[in-house]
Amino acid sequence: MEVVATLAGAVGLVTGLVTALAVRASERAQHPSAPPAQTAGVPAGVASVLSVLRSSAVVIDSDDRVLRASSAARAFGLVSGDRLVVDSLLAMARLVRRDGEIREEEIEVIHGRREGRWFAVRVAPMGTGGLVLVLAEDLTELRRVEAVRRDFVANVSHELKTPVGALSLLSETIEDAADDPEAVRRFAKRMQHESVRLTNVVQDLITLSRLQGGEPVAEPKVVALDDVVHDAVDRCRLKAEPKDITLAIGGCEGLTVDGDEELLITAVRNFIDNAIAYSPEHTRVVVCTRRADDRHAEISVTDQGIGIPEADLQRIFERFYRVDPARSRQTGGTGLGLAIVKHAATRHRGEVNVWSKEGSGSTFTIRLPLLTTSATAKEISEPATVREAP
Ligand code: ADP
Repeated sequence: MEVVATLAGAVGLVTGLVTALAVRASERAQHPSAPPAQTAGVPAGVASVLSVLRSSAVVIDSDDRVLRASSAARAFGLVSGDRLVVDSLLAMARLVRRDGEIREEEIEVIHGRREGRWFAVRVAPMGTGGLVLVLAEDLTELRRVEAVRRDFVANVSHELKTPVGALSLLSETIEDAADDPEAVRRFAKRMQHESVRLTNVVQDLITLSRLQGGEPVAEPKVVALDDVVHDAVDRCRLKAEPKDITLAIGGCEGLTVDGDEELLITAVRNFIDNAIAYSPEHTRVVVCTRRADDRHAEISVTDQGIGIPEADLQRIFERFYRVDPARSRQTGGTGLGLAIVKHAATRHRGEVNVWSKEGSGSTFTIRLPLLTTSATAKEISEPATVREAP
């Protein structure tokens, strides 16, 4: 809202400036000693101010003919030839011409089947000759960002409400079952489960909010990918054991990148966590480092799990997107793991990719710019070895 107010303020300032110039020009027109400077009917001073505006600016005369239109106004389809083609804008301009009152509105402009664009419009009279100035600031991106933020807040509230609701219910149940130690133990266990879930969501939200700016890592350090992989695998071992899932490390050793080691460990750990969560028992997860080309390294995590339907592949990196929400919750997933990995990759000027086949498994890859000193790494042409993680 603050941004909208600032925009409206800026538009107001420009309208004022342009109107003042127009009034001065029309005053000069009434004195023979100061002949009016006109550009196709528009006072010269006004024309040059309009030409530097980023917002769409249109001047129309008393017959609704466009005397001047900025390139943005034409690009957005507000003007065609010498006509203002958006009916609501034309109606506003006519009202302003009639009563001289400045008008402001937010309008949606739809062309054909394309999604509409939103504009903050300000229409003002210019001098006394029936000229009207229309300024339209494109609000589409601002509105989109606002909608994304609203959705995000709604999702966060929902994700927090569920475990908090469960905790409150369980605590009441424990109170009622005070005389039954077995039931108390059972419900206390479920309370622990819900608190872990709550902690995970909050922790992931904190991580995500730190990453969201998209700026590169502030103080990058030399990071050995071997250390990243070993650390991530170590931290996932406890989760793999109950399902008897083997964690193996393979590929090319000695690669280094510039970045934030802890963030890269978090990213790889999220891949491995998912690989374990979405794989059946007694399967294998392989974490591989490789030199993709002269300038890039890749860390990939391959599982023999349930895989991902093709239709969902494009969306799994979105915040809170889950192929099977019930399964994700059951496995303790927050729906934020892959969004965190994507942001972590962006911060390292890298990218993430996924290959998957339903019923066969998935490979998630993070690709990172190599440090040139990685030239010492063993070449990729060497057969990739796969070692069981110790
Ligand atoms: P979650 O916490 O739900 O796992 P993520 O952001 O880590 O959230 O992943 C988003 C969704 O992508 C998951 O809910 C799951 O449906 C799918 N997914 C991620 N990794 C895998 C995998 N290795 N195998 C199958 N599905 C996966």
